[in-house]
Amino acid sequence: MNIHEYQAKEIFRRHGMPVPPGDIATTPDRAGELARTYGGSVVVKAQVHAGGRGKAGGVKLAKSADEARSHAEKILGMEIKGLTVEKVLVTPTEDIASEAYVGVIVDRSSKRPVFMVSREGGIDIEEVAATNPEAIRRLTVDPRYGLLPFQAYWLAASLYDDVKQQRAAAKIMGQLYEAFIASGASLAEINPLITTPSGEVKAIDAKMNIDDNELFRRKDVEALRDTSSEPPSEIKAREASLTYIKLDGSIGAVVNGAGLAMATMDLIKFYGGEPANFLDIGGSSNPEKVVNALDIITSDPNVTVILFNIFGGITRCDDVANGIVTATGQMEMKVPLVIRLTGTNEEEGVRILEEAGFSASTSMDDVVKRAVEQAQ
Ligand code: GDP
Ligand code: MN
Repeated sequence: MNIHEYQAKEIFRRHGMPVPPGDIATTPDRAGELARTYGGSVVVKAQVHAGGRGKAGGVKLAKSADEARSHAEKILGMEIKGLTVEKVLVTPTEDIASEAYVGVIVDRSSKRPVFMVSREGGIDIEEVAATNPEAIRRLTVDPRYGLLPFQAYWLAASLYDDVKQQRAAAKIMGQLYEAFIASGASLAEINPLITTPSGEVKAIDAKMNIDDNELFRRKDVEALRDTSSEPPSEIKAREASLTYIKLDGSIGAVVNGAGLAMATMDLIKFYGGEPANFLDIGGSSNPEKVVNALDIITSDPNVTVILFNIFGGITRCDDVANGIVTATGQMEMKVPLVIRLTGTNEEEGVRILEEAGFSASTSMDDVVKRAVEQAQ
């Protein structure tokens, strides 16, 4: 789950990090009013779940409340990477002497939190990693001990020459690590971490991604969810207890089990196709899940064919078949279905489908090939 900058900053503040004040506006008037309370010189920042807002025109400096109002007027309603801006953060402008990058992520290969810091702040870390990888210092944290003080100093020493700034940055990194762990985050990033002309170190941008699997035990973090920033299909899937991730291809896949869903996507790619989604309808026998799954997949205009790949264990093939018949009876299907059913109650499932005018195969290889052909 992504959260907004203003929400991440609130978490940072709670962990003692030096973050400038700020508040949210949904109207230009409110942005102007806030700017007045901060003395007029403010930054107006689009709150959307996308990076690179600065480049897209979603971060604007204002010298007066009137200017803040007119910036907000432009930014509210603007689209950034397909997301409509509904809120802006209004925050006092900081004078910047330098911009650095500080981030911590869960690293899949070491299975541990990894810090990355760089003097090259303000730009995407991916860009720095690609063009100037020596400019990034990395440190793997042992989660049993957390970020130890000497490690934080070692990281901070690569960012600043001034001892006071090194100390300040080391402290911030310790707090960032605490915030990261306490929130169940998979990523926490300060870009840029600035120094001011008078030598202070501050976080003026904040980004956090929360691991969805941490949410059930963190209701306060779950409450930060902004559904207006999520694809409607993913919201619908979550409400229907389906695991669904939208992708960019044309083959919609309905599969039971995460492992089989991964294997299905691999096979689609192997035969030259592109999956439109990852969708796991889970292990239970419930025709309604199939109805919801089809509803979600057919709402994606990129989908040109739908592939069912069901391996019946606890899931019964006849239930899935009934789900397909019910769903296709309820909605107008504009794309062909390619179905593979095997396992528990397979004969019954195939019979139900054939009576309804569908054909079903028991071979995964066959149906994936067919789906790839039909998608083209
Ligand atoms: P992002 O583009 O979405 O990462 O948004 P940021 O909050 O990182 O802002 C982008 C850039 O705008 C920063 O790297 C700064 O150069 C600039 N910026 C943001 N806030 C301030 C500020 O308070 N003062 C000044 N002078 N520049 C700012
Ligand atoms: Mn930034």
